[in-house]
Amino acid sequence: MPFVDVHAHLIHPQFEGEERQAAERAQAAGLAAVVVNGLEPESNRRVLELCEEYDHLYPALGIYPIDAIAHRIDPQTWPHDWPPPKPFDVDAEIAFIDSVAPRLIAIGECGLDRYWLSDQDQEQERVLRGLIEVALRHDKPVILHTRKAEARTLEILLEMGVEKADFHCFTGKLKLAHRIAEAGYYLSIPPAVARDQTFQRFAKELPLDRLLTETDSPYMGPVRGERNEPANVPLGVAAMATARGIEPAAMQTAIAENFERLFGVPLSTSP
Ligand SMILES: [Zn+2]
Repeated sequence: MPFVDVHAHLIHPQFEGEERQAAERAQAAGLAAVVVNGLEPESNRRVLELCEEYDHLYPALGIYPIDAIAHRIDPQTWPHDWPPPKPFDVDAEIAFIDSVAPRLIAIGECGLDRYWLSDQDQEQERVLRGLIEVALRHDKPVILHTRKAEARTLEILLEMGVEKADFHCFTGKLKLAHRIAEAGYYLSIPPAVARDQTFQRFAKELPLDRLLTETDSPYMGPVRGERNEPANVPLGVAAMATARGIEPAAMQTAIAENFERLFGVPLSTSP
């Protein structure tokens, strides 16, 4: 079975001008599917264009939880050492995503963030709910960012009757991860699993039929500080298999089956 990456950002300043090479290296590494996630209006449109060019790239469009409140951020009081997100009309963007949803494999990246943002929860939740409504209307899975807001995100999914969801780079408690798996949702693990005991624990303990692989490229790579890319998925699968004490091929097959079940897209066996 081929490898899959359910969460990559090939449209990103760190890949500028190299998006196609990264896509081609992924294919050469045995990946049959890379889900390229958008974050805001500009990357959403470029994700759609890039994915048109390759059969193994699948677009997911969304609004990153920090971009979701860009229109409410005062740059003068922004506390972080990276620039505040550019404001845009979030409702117009949700309408755009709705209009192209039949072409998407999923809605994402979307979710809640209480790591970088301590307040603004109401607007973040409103945007997340708007995107979930799009996903429900078009019967698409949602790909979720849940940093420091994992339990609240799960509550919203259950309340809204969501059946198909992936928690990307989940770093909450193991007990909560089990609840997410029991609810029928998936958790995707990045190549950072090669160096991170939290991810190793999830790979070992969670039901095999709820695990997926991602990269969160250019972040979350096997070597801290180095640019990550979809071609690193096989390395992540090997580390997950080691953590679980099973053969890499068994891990790879389970993940490919999980991908097909969640996204409803059959994977070609000859990448
Ligand atoms: Zn991401």
